[in-house]
Amino acid sequence: MNSNSLKVILEKLEKREITSVEITKQYLDEIKKKDSQINAFITVNDKALNEAKLADDKRQRGDKGVLLGVPIALKDVYSTRGLKTTAGSRVLENYIPPYDATAVKKLKQAGAVILGKTNLDAWAHGSSGENSDFGVTHNPYDLKSTPGGSSSGSAAAVASGMAPVAAGTDTGGSIRLPASFCNVVGLKPTYGRVSRYGIIAMGSSFDSIGHITQDVFSSALVLSVTGEIDPNDGTTGKVAVTQYHKLLGKPINGVKLGIIKEFMKEGLDSEIKKNFGKACKTLEDLGCEIVEISLPHVDYATSTYYILVPAEVSSNLGRMDGVRFGNSRDHFSAEAKRRVMIGTYTLSSGYYDAYYNKALKVRRLIINDFNNAFKSVDAIIAPTSPTPPFKLGEKLNEPLSMYLSDIYVCPMNLAGVPALSVPMEPAHNLPCGIQFVGRQFDENTIFNIAHAYEQARGDINLKLKI
Ligand code: GLN
Repeated sequence: MNSNSLKVILEKLEKREITSVEITKQYLDEIKKKDSQINAFITVNDKALNEAKLADDKRQRGDKGVLLGVPIALKDVYSTRGLKTTAGSRVLENYIPPYDATAVKKLKQAGAVILGKTNLDAWAHGSSGENSDFGVTHNPYDLKSTPGGSSSGSAAAVASGMAPVAAGTDTGGSIRLPASFCNVVGLKPTYGRVSRYGIIAMGSSFDSIGHITQDVFSSALVLSVTGEIDPNDGTTGKVAVTQYHKLLGKPINGVKLGIIKEFMKEGLDSEIKKNFGKACKTLEDLGCEIVEISLPHVDYATSTYYILVPAEVSSNLGRMDGVRFGNSRDHFSAEAKRRVMIGTYTLSSGYYDAYYNKALKVRRLIINDFNNAFKSVDAIIAPTSPTPPFKLGEKLNEPLSMYLSDIYVCPMNLAGVPALSVPMEPAHNLPCGIQFVGRQFDENTIFNIAHAYEQARGDINLKLKI
């Protein structure tokens, strides 16, 4: 098992084979050694070793926090008390939050040690990490390629062994796409499973708070900590959080999986298609029944997303006016300005009905499509990305082609359903992922299926370039 799996780390900590100070130091050393080439971190927490020492003291006293002493990195949109939080933008380059986001509070209560804050496309707008005001992040499997975005630093940090876990956000694929590009596991929980309180908002009816890990077990364990019904976020679901990691390992024979017909056509790289077929075969060998399903309106998902999200972005970024938060608006980069302009346009009178309102109706149709599909299958599977990681710079001047990287991931954000990307066999010698999509609040089912797949799939044959 990978040494960055939480199972391995927690076992060593529990058996006192290693201390939190030692393991935190190991990750800090990896960051020192590798991050000049990857640029996954905006800020390294200079108090990490103190926090680790406190965790060790607690363990000594018999404390049993679920993540006691485990180092974790956070995407730089998670508000961290006393630790700079930039959202990847110069607008907030000196912003130090006075409080912790609920998810951060919960991680700390479970004993996690904050290693640092990871790089991202500014305001989480992007699919490649190239929109960051703090420099691009490089893919550890090919330094000339993008790690995917917007949680670029989180995925690259976990992939290159600079952190065992890195939290992220997924508004339109920003956890799953980078997880797929970096050969790691990325969870977008159900909308409302993890509190958005204290996470710098992008599109408030889309933002899902999740994380990137080495394996499915670690992902399930972290969700059991961050999952929350939070009075500070009225959209958190009323469904109780379970010990997701304890429910893994159930046989999956007889489970019915749907393949989305509309995804399996032009635009999908042929090698990814082939490998996805092999992954289906593995699942069939485990006893799953695989059927074709249709999401008739899914072809409209990307256009719907790129109307609704900029509308919400234009409203959310309104608070970054240089009065209450941050530097003046002159510091906004091109992509944020483009979204604010599109959003303001589609919300303005005369255009509201033609764009915003219409897009809301299409969103409803897409939600209905998912609901219908889940009447006949237990979960849906799909490739996470239509292509392997692309080269840095390749799509920078073509926003539309960049937006199309999200075609397989943003429909799940429109529908608010959970989705988990897990590495499958590489294509063109580069990482790629398969995603498992479930009913709202049914993370248990996708964790269990993905876990069985991960065990049956075996090791992925890829070498880090760092
Ligand atoms: N690539 C998408 C966008 O730019 C996803 C963003 C996200 O999930 N934060 O909007």
